[in-house]
Amino acid sequence: MNTFKIGMGYDVHQLKEGYDFWLGGIKLAHEKGAVGHSDADVLIHVICDALLGAANLRDIGYHFSDKDPQFKGIDSKVLLKEVMEKIREAGFEVGNIDSTICLQVPKVNPHIPTMKTCLAEVMKIPESSISIKATTTEWLGFVGREEGVSAYCVALIYHV
Ligand SMILES: [Zn+2]
Repeated sequence: MNTFKIGMGYDVHQLKEGYDFWLGGIKLAHEKGAVGHSDADVLIHVICDALLGAANLRDIGYHFSDKDPQFKGIDSKVLLKEVMEKIREAGFEVGNIDSTICLQVPKVNPHIPTMKTCLAEVMKIPESSISIKATTTEWLGFVGREEGVSAYCVALIYHV
């Protein structure tokens, strides 16, 4: 019998003027960008955390410390690629991931197909296994005030 494991991820990054806005592996054109030690790609970070959690391999900060200068400004796609290697080394393959981005502006929906293509390429899994959803928070809270972006992800992995 296959062994299935699930994991979840949650992350938040501040949005500030003068920063690039990387989300789902692509750069969005926006007057604000996400602040972080890496490129601050909140969607990739929650995917990494969900996968690591499913495999019981701690979290993204444990493997890629925000105190470590080698990860300063790093492309989060590199981190996701390494996480996939860890998952596969532990004997797992990805069943599917389902994620939600919480962002007031700009609209994420038009970019979702490009994000899916990008992430499928990095993770070496079919696009049909990657779900990305987007919501605003109806102008409420830090997301609604355009002070930050958050994301959630669940991942299902199975022992090969
Ligand atoms: Zn993060």
